[in-house]
Amino acid sequence: MKKIFILLFVIFTAQIFAQDDPSLTEVWSPVPLDVKPGDNGRAPSDAIILFDGKNLSEWTNDKGGPAGWTVHNGILTVKPGSGYIFTKRQFADCQLHIEWKTPAEIKGEGQGRGNSGVFLQNKYELQVLDSYNNPTYSNGQAGSIYKQSIPLVNVSRKPGEWQSYDIIYTAPRFNVDSTLKSPAYITVLQNGVLIQNHFEIKGSTQHRGKPKYEIHPFTQPLSLQDHGDLVSFRNIWIRELNTR
Ligand code: MG
Repeated sequence: MKKIFILLFVIFTAQIFAQDDPSLTEVWSPVPLDVKPGDNGRAPSDAIILFDGKNLSEWTNDKGGPAGWTVHNGILTVKPGSGYIFTKRQFADCQLHIEWKTPAEIKGEGQGRGNSGVFLQNKYELQVLDSYNNPTYSNGQAGSIYKQSIPLVNVSRKPGEWQSYDIIYTAPRFNVDSTLKSPAYITVLQNGVLIQNHFEIKGSTQHRGKPKYEIHPFTQPLSLQDHGDLVSFRNIWIRELNTR
């Protein structure tokens, strides 16, 4: 009888010690890939460079021809009337860095002042606008998911000053019967400040009426909007997520 008690005591204590063993909750695999960080918003080593100031080789116009926007002194500027530009590559889930500025010389007001846009998957617009002392509808100001989500704060710099968007985007998934399986989500930092926090995108951007989802291929080009204003861009890079 005594032996059984001793045995039970030993097993019991062993179990307690086993549960306390910190190595039981250590996970050693997989090992994250090594990535060299970029300095001051520059691209990390595993990013795809979409614009590095030299040319528009990663971009096309809406007909698949050469993108018609202006590249000068390392800066990309909308050529009004030439239309949106599109990446040749297609993306789904991603991290995107893009820097932009609206013209230093103020022209127009509201939606007519420094308007452009970053269209994730060519469908879901993160608004680019001069929102420095420029009232407009809140769900259409800089940093809004156009007509869907007001930015948490207005962290806009003055017209003519460079600003940045750092975007974390999850693409929508569709079922085989074309219905929505899971919506798109977007998180955005403007000039390093959180302005959209895992917002559930309601559908493709609409100027009139409500957004709604329509099935599209998993990967799509990124596009930038020509809204007729001389908005400039630089240092555009993207990291594909969930592809490995
Ligand atoms: Mg726009």
